[in-house]
Amino acid sequence: MNNDTICALATANGVGALGIIRVSGNDALSVVQKSFPKKNLAKQKSHTIHYGYFMDGDEAIDEVMLSIFLAPKSFTTENSVEIAFHGSPHIGKRILETLTKNGARMAKAGEFTLRAFINGRIDLSQAEAIADVIASENEASRKVAINQLKGGITNEISFLRTDLLNFVSLVELELDFAEEDVEFADRSALNQLLDKIELKLNSLIDSFQYGNAIKNGTAVAIIGKPNAGKSTLLNALLKEERAIVSSIAGTTRDTIEEILHIKGHAFRLIDTAGLRETENEIEAIGVKKAKEKVENANILVYLADAATENFSDDIEMIKSLQRDDLKLIICATKIDEVSPTTYEKVETIFRNEISQEFDFIKISAVENQNIQDLKNELSSYVEQLKSAENNVVITNQRHFEALGKSLDAVNKVKEAIIFQISTELLAYELRNALEHLGEISGEVTNDEVLGNIFSKFCIGK
Ligand code: GDP
Repeated sequence: MNNDTICALATANGVGALGIIRVSGNDALSVVQKSFPKKNLAKQKSHTIHYGYFMDGDEAIDEVMLSIFLAPKSFTTENSVEIAFHGSPHIGKRILETLTKNGARMAKAGEFTLRAFINGRIDLSQAEAIADVIASENEASRKVAINQLKGGITNEISFLRTDLLNFVSLVELELDFAEEDVEFADRSALNQLLDKIELKLNSLIDSFQYGNAIKNGTAVAIIGKPNAGKSTLLNALLKEERAIVSSIAGTTRDTIEEILHIKGHAFRLIDTAGLRETENEIEAIGVKKAKEKVENANILVYLADAATENFSDDIEMIKSLQRDDLKLIICATKIDEVSPTTYEKVETIFRNEISQEFDFIKISAVENQNIQDLKNELSSYVEQLKSAENNVVITNQRHFEALGKSLDAVNKVKEAIIFQISTELLAYELRNALEHLGEISGEVTNDEVLGNIFSKFCIGK
């Protein structure tokens, strides 16, 4: 392991009350010592804090606090120093320049976390969880990321992997005694274990849909004829959220998304570009455009003006957009303008014509009636994705893929047993399954995978 001494700014680049620079590596203490003459750092205990001036030669750069973490009790398991300085980007730059003069080098993206992984302090899924914790924007994503950081996924899998490893040893032992036709690995017990693993893998794989909703938000398309009340509803939905609403502007104005948070979950309102500009000339949205909008949506909220007489266009549009994996919510809008008998009738018309299951909500965006019902319906979509028996939720595409490959490999082992293929092949398939299971925690990995993961980290992480 190359543990030359690295340094980087760990806090965000910008003005703040404080900034923190991390230094880690064999020579972390002596590198910092050159700029901190006040105390003999080599004599200090681990986990102590020291006040003084950070010097570049004779010049005091800033008044700082040093936190010392001695190997192996640090994030990277190496000797580490954290320098808390007054949060001016210029001071941060001066301190880093001085540290590199003193013998450290600038860290690469994710290098601190990579060292923590390589030195065995955390496994790969925990390293990824650090990125997720930092990126978490709501309660749901924070909870899942913290659980993963605590080793959630690895714990779920590692005991199954250990059991499987036992079988691999037994099957390989049979290979050593090939002449004697002995069976050390009880095939029916192996089968039972494989069933157990399959069950666990399937439930983890199933949790990915929920994990995806947590990590990327649930995509919602709001569609309806011109004047149906789409933009008014959008404003009503986002009203209380104004403070935390963010707009993601894409390359074209067509791909503006707004984020709505309901009960700790994020909903991405797809392509709201046109909706905000009520005064603009209204153009009818064609089926093709509507299809594009719902293509990547999880939920379609279709608005129909309750005061209209004829709904055949709406019904036709909904039918052309329907998809098995698209949740449909039909909203009768502007109910403040019509009598209850009228909007009851509207519901009957839709129920008679549309065979797919859907929720029907009667709203008035202007009078804020039943908007909460719509929010509850959106939120229940995410809630029902949550599996009761699974504490661990898969949010990471890499884990999802490794689980899928593990499942395929487990099925191949099962087939191998059914067809009583040679012990050599059985051993091969078992090894394969083990390897895929080990990919998640990083017990089995390669430089390309690591490069891919850590290059997405920012510098200082
Ligand atoms: P869009 O073209 O689908 O975005 O429709 P708008 O949201 O621009 O609404 C069209 C017109 O209907 C506007 O004059 C709105 O004020 C009105 N409108 C929208 N929602 C309601 C509602 O719930 N009640 C009433 N009375 N009018 C509404």
